[in-house]
Amino acid sequence: MTQTYHSVAIDGPAGAGKSTVARAAAKALGFVYVDTGAIYRTVGYHMDFLGIGPRDTDGVTRLIGDANIQIEYDPAGGQHMILNGSDVTEELRTPEMSKIASAISGQKVVRDYLLEMQRDVARKHSVVMDGRDIGTVVLPHADVKIFLTASPEIRARRRFEELSAKGEKTAYEQVLEDQRKRDEQDAGRKIAPLKQAKDAILLDTSDFTPEQSVEAVVRLVREKLGPL
Ligand code: C5P
Repeated sequence: MTQTYHSVAIDGPAGAGKSTVARAAAKALGFVYVDTGAIYRTVGYHMDFLGIGPRDTDGVTRLIGDANIQIEYDPAGGQHMILNGSDVTEELRTPEMSKIASAISGQKVVRDYLLEMQRDVARKHSVVMDGRDIGTVVLPHADVKIFLTASPEIRARRRFEELSAKGEKTAYEQVLEDQRKRDEQDAGRKIAPLKQAKDAILLDTSDFTPEQSVEAVVRLVREKLGPL
């Protein structure tokens, strides 16, 4: 008997709450959560460790094959990024790695390298996958596509609070400015830019609590797929 797997694509700009919402929705639906931003961050981390700048196309092309990246899940559904045997998850969510990931994700060689890895997870599991190009490029036939967004100020406020809670000293204005640059870069790049797929549902979470955002996503998926 062939098993049918389902896929939910969640795209949107930085700080829209994609990870929080996608992780909780995946848990409620019994699907695997895939944070694709973490995969780009892992490639950025690898290059940074080797002293290669994210815009150095020759260096990135030469060394990307040395990045053996694996995705593992803990029993709570947390995603761990394993780079050449080491768990680098904790190193990835810094403002510095956000910038490096955004710059490196404009390199075609990087996107090509990661495309099959992402599709492969969706071939083997039902997934809620979040990123920038999931509904447009990675899973164009996803069962449900959602474009999750919120006003720039609210997104920056949420990211600022997340960083402050981790003890990172940063100013709200700086977070807002970094976010503006990253959105511009992600939406403006030639390959797989951040954009809403034609058949994606727009979900603006500016006035939602995280719980309300999760409920909205789960409801949309259940409406489309029926009882799972
Ligand atoms: O989602 P997150 O902020 O972790 O993503 C980090 C960076 O990785 C983004 O700014 C974007 O440039 C890149 N990315 C991408 N395509 C994806 C996911 C992330 O280009 N599917």
